[in-house]
Amino acid sequence: MAKKKNVYFFGEGKAEGDAKMKDVLGGKGANLAEMTSLNIPVPPGFTISTEVCAAYYENKKKYPAGLEEEVLANLKKLEKTMGKKLGDPEDPLLVSVRSGAAVSMPGMMDTILNLGINDEAVLGLAAKTGNPRFAWDAYRRFIQMYGGVVMEVPDTAFEEAITSIKKARNINLDKDLSDKDLKELVEEYKKIIQHHVGKELPQNPLDQLWGAINAVFGSWMNERAIKYRELNNIKNIKGTAVNVQSMVFGNFGDDSGTGVCFSRDPSTGKNEFYGEYLMNAQGEDVVAGIRTPEKIATLETENKKIYQQLVDIKNRLQKHFRDMQDMEFTVQQGKLFILQTRNGKRTGAAAVKCAVDMVAEKLIDKNTAILRVTPEHLDQMLHPMIDPAALTNARSLTQGLNASPGAGCGRIVFSAKEAEDWHTRGEKVLLVRQDTSPEDIGGMVVSQGILTSTGGMTSHAAVVARGMGTPCVAGAKDVQVQGKKVNIGGKTFKEGDWITIDGSSGFVYEGKLPLAVPEISDDMKTFLSWCDDVRASSVRGSIKGFEIRTNADQPEDAKRAFDFGAQGVGLCRTEHMFFEKEKLIHFRAMIVADTVEKRKEALRKILPLQRKDFFGIFSAMEGRSVIIRLLDPPLHEFVPQTKKEIAELAAYLNIKPAKLLPKIEKLHEINPMLGHRGCRLAITYPEIYDMQVEAIVLAAVDCIKKNIPVDPEIMIPIVVTARELKLIRPNAEAVIKQVLEQEGVKLKVKIGTMIEVPRAALRAGHVAKYADFFSFGTNDLTQMTFAFSRDDVASFLPTYLQHQVLDVDPFKSIDEEGVGFLIRNAVEQGRQVNPNLNVGICGEHGGDPVTIDFCFRAGINYVSCSPYRVPLARLAGAQAVINNTTPGPVNKKASTGKTEKVRKAAKADKPVKSAKAKTPGRTGKRGTKAGTR
Ligand code: PEP
Ligand code: MG
Repeated sequence: MAKKKNVYFFGEGKAEGDAKMKDVLGGKGANLAEMTSLNIPVPPGFTISTEVCAAYYENKKKYPAGLEEEVLANLKKLEKTMGKKLGDPEDPLLVSVRSGAAVSMPGMMDTILNLGINDEAVLGLAAKTGNPRFAWDAYRRFIQMYGGVVMEVPDTAFEEAITSIKKARNINLDKDLSDKDLKELVEEYKKIIQHHVGKELPQNPLDQLWGAINAVFGSWMNERAIKYRELNNIKNIKGTAVNVQSMVFGNFGDDSGTGVCFSRDPSTGKNEFYGEYLMNAQGEDVVAGIRTPEKIATLETENKKIYQQLVDIKNRLQKHFRDMQDMEFTVQQGKLFILQTRNGKRTGAAAVKCAVDMVAEKLIDKNTAILRVTPEHLDQMLHPMIDPAALTNARSLTQGLNASPGAGCGRIVFSAKEAEDWHTRGEKVLLVRQDTSPEDIGGMVVSQGILTSTGGMTSHAAVVARGMGTPCVAGAKDVQVQGKKVNIGGKTFKEGDWITIDGSSGFVYEGKLPLAVPEISDDMKTFLSWCDDVRASSVRGSIKGFEIRTNADQPEDAKRAFDFGAQGVGLCRTEHMFFEKEKLIHFRAMIVADTVEKRKEALRKILPLQRKDFFGIFSAMEGRSVIIRLLDPPLHEFVPQTKKEIAELAAYLNIKPAKLLPKIEKLHEINPMLGHRGCRLAITYPEIYDMQVEAIVLAAVDCIKKNIPVDPEIMIPIVVTARELKLIRPNAEAVIKQVLEQEGVKLKVKIGTMIEVPRAALRAGHVAKYADFFSFGTNDLTQMTFAFSRDDVASFLPTYLQHQVLDVDPFKSIDEEGVGFLIRNAVEQGRQVNPNLNVGICGEHGGDPVTIDFCFRAGINYVSCSPYRVPLARLAGAQAVINNTTPGPVNKKASTGKTEKVRKAAKADKPVKSAKAKTPGRTGKRGTKAGTR
């Protein structure tokens, strides 16, 4: 049997792998191999595969047989290529040892630089380079990294030592330490290691190498890497690869430098070369944010030749990978090296702009463009900004770098722990720090924004915030954090004080400024129009197109959704209209009425108010279909509760409050969600639905008379049996007929039903006999299928998810095996009776990309979601079409493709590790709109 290959070499224009081997070589290793083959100047090295990492963990942290020999053989090859030997006392080869999984996890795993140096080699390096300061600096950096990462010495111990020597020499910057100082520091560092670990720093370079390899594989399972994978839903990848690569140095002097650059602006997406660099520095100096880097454009004046080379390489790489590239480079004594390239992380705005521009540049096709932008990207673009009206009076405290767009306001916290504590207490927080590090990830996730006083656009805070879509202002020099206080532009704030940041402009403001949602940009319009085209032209058997509608209860909501591209209203919850004070009193009068006449009298007063609202919604939708659901909630929810409310109603009815009490008592229900609600109300009090139907048709007639196109549909909720519809439908038809005749208008009004009770889903063939359409109310359908209360599930769901009793929150993404099974059954049965049955979904799941993918596969005609999620649903719908109908991979991101993963796992009946548990949206508390947004 052929031996499994574990180690892959790259160097001098030849590589044993390529970009397609990301799974095995990790992203970094695969791209290093690809760049080597493209003759891009990459320092030679070798990659130990991700499969070794997987085997290491499967086999109680033991490496596969033969790995040691393979690593040694590749090291020999590397030494030969470089003409130097690891640890050579005359002219040592130094290497970096870095992690690199198939999916980029910036800063989450370990890296060691300058490996191969020891007490003898440092002297050889000093002699060979003629630069003792450089050699001793390389050694002290190595000890600090190796000591921290491999030997687990706290970094503060090294920091204290370097601070104390700088103080003793009366200098501020590391770079001002002399070779003698650094030599002294090296001795001090070695003592620190001995003191903390009781062992010496290994001098044998091979011991160093294996220590580093073990540490990198070990970092795959460190807490922050696990958390990062969890938060980013990174699953089913084998592990990290380990890249051992010969070092190049950006800190050789003023003709050396290092930097990070992007082939396009990752914040805006503009086709402008973007990045920053530092001369006479190592990569860690740029990322750590200790010195403020120069803009890449400055390099053109500082070193035109290198700049031109870099421009040429970024153009080649972008063309080759057909995507925006994020590159790390080092210049060593005037020679350029590329240390890494990967597809650049970007903001939502940049994702859309890059996608649109790259189609125009014929770099990618439209389907690829659609798959490049994630629903989260679009969500980010709809992030709040500071209300422009409020900005006119606001005075900024200071300005930093506009590191991640969007505005956020919250109470100042100074640590990740404080952030999480305040957040648990239900407070909005804003993390203010000198800089952030991977340990802060938990606090960053719960923050409304991040403000740092140091660091550039590629600092940890900036990169992580952009990835999470959290607003961030970085490198704000006028922000000085001192313990539990911060001075911002001359004013002192303490923990808990409110501030607002604008990550798009970099400004920081005192207090809590109102935020507003931005308009959709022209690029976004173009992009979403492509998504609409893809959905419109999709064909599933006899079903053409896949629509996105909205859940809107008020004309303004409908208008907003229309502007966001909704193709109709999939659900108008009429009960939300009754919660306006003006209507509520009439409604309360109606429910406490003890005769039909009194009830009708109250309903007469409500009718014109509802008619006006319906007219508003019809007008906003300009002739697109509008589904209005007749009254759904238990009457119980409208009963006056407080003394004040009872007194108000009594006064309105001109009776004593005491007279109302027995009626109120009678309306009380023990389990209202399973009580007198939905179409059950129409069976007991037909006049309620009669009034609503009349108001709908009259509003439609008003539109027609004003030449406003209109397409109303009426929906009956909480149907359990076909017989309910059999009774209710003729009533509604009679009212429609009567109003149309009386108004002399012709109009087709469809009558359909919600399928939100399992029995209705199981008996859908019968229900369909009386329904022109079905709309799945997946909130109730999930509640009733699981017997999980929508209101109380948060008390146990997180534990269910933690123990993988469930893969995902079933109120967020549809449970395909159970609820999905009922849906598929209902669609099939319904269409057997009525082949043209239009079928939609209007539960909160309608805005969830995973559910949208399911809906497409289940033959559903449209999904309906809250207005702000419409753009996201337009995209997710198009992605569902492409992912399920286009043959062959079109830039599929199988490794992180959430939709793909959940679907595959559902098919294989396997657990999918869940992302963070979230309390499900709730619409049951009718007094609030919670859960509808
Ligand atoms: C549903 O149950 O999914 C639904 C849309 O109705 P509501 O949330 O108003 O109960
Ligand atoms: Mg419902």
